[in-house]
Amino acid sequence: MPESLYIHIPFCVRKCLYCDFLSVPYNDLLARAYTDALCKELILKKGFAGELKTVYIGGGTPSILPEECFRELFNCLKDNFKFSNSSEITVEANPGTVDKSKIGAMLSLGVNRLSIGVQSFNDAELKALGRIHTSDEALKAIETIKNSGINNFSVDLIYGIPGQTLDSWKKTLSKAVELSPAHISSYELTPEKDTPLYRLIQSGGIKMPDEDLVLSMYDYAIDYLASKGYEHYEISNFALHGFRCLHNLNYWEREEYISAGAGAHSFVKGFRSKNTDDIRRYIKDLNKGIIPEAESTEIKCEDAIKEFIFLNLRKTEGINLAKAEALGLNMPGVCMELIEDGYLEIKGDYLRLSRKGIVIANAIIVKLFEGLVLD
Ligand code: SF4
Repeated sequence: MPESLYIHIPFCVRKCLYCDFLSVPYNDLLARAYTDALCKELILKKGFAGELKTVYIGGGTPSILPEECFRELFNCLKDNFKFSNSSEITVEANPGTVDKSKIGAMLSLGVNRLSIGVQSFNDAELKALGRIHTSDEALKAIETIKNSGINNFSVDLIYGIPGQTLDSWKKTLSKAVELSPAHISSYELTPEKDTPLYRLIQSGGIKMPDEDLVLSMYDYAIDYLASKGYEHYEISNFALHGFRCLHNLNYWEREEYISAGAGAHSFVKGFRSKNTDDIRRYIKDLNKGIIPEAESTEIKCEDAIKEFIFLNLRKTEGINLAKAEALGLNMPGVCMELIEDGYLEIKGDYLRLSRKGIVIANAIIVKLFEGLVLD
């Protein structure tokens, strides 16, 4: 039975220019009706989960919800699910949407990890991303979080922002480290279709930094964060010892999880399913007692193996060779050329991306799939 639960909160103050996540501008009435619907979905799904080891409330901007909604949601969780002794319970928070009282309420409800969307400590870069907050506001939010007694918090950063230089990226990283987060996520900005950022790039209104500069930013982050004691445990994620994100590790291990919320994905018994993206339909269906599932696909043989490779290779530890063999995969045989060329390496019982390979991980995975012959 799945031991991880994801809950999606699809509301934000306003849309960032690069965002293609499911989120709409906050509307109080809608958010309250949505929270009621979430509880109805959780009750319908309570029999499908084991003892929960991780709960991740993401979005959107979950921290935009009023305290009453958090209370309703957590009371519902406590009444209907079992939690393991040391469950990791994360809420995503954005600067500008948290204060002492809300953080205190979350803590009292059992939240023990916060993930804060800082993205950059440079105001021009925050503006280029269309973020709602300034660097100072992010610093204040983190101060409030630390003063509330939370030391298990993560800071999300983005590199490859239009106008960003290697120097400003170094300053952002150093500022982040000064705040002593337990965890840092560092994502490359990818302009997704149907976002204002993509359209600005297409029209020539904005220019992305060149590829070599972006690679050097990633390279720098790996070395700098390692020098400050952060273990690089996944392509984009770094953590102090003992503070890896267990919820996300569950995804990369290709373990099962359930979810609740509009657009939320679940993976149970080999089926990947997704709820409707339509927030109003989501609420309506649940008011009628229906789980608003929009699609469900069984992931069979070849696709399951590709998922196994793709997800496990994201971890710097790599693919467990015994697990691969149990799936009928002789990994060293499949990717001998990539090993000889120095993009992949075998370390103990694992096959992993080398330092040369990790900076171009997507290209290596595509190459690996091309050489994959499955019966
Ligand atoms: S805060 Fe996050 S989810 Fe909300 S619009 Fe910005 S990027 Fe999207």
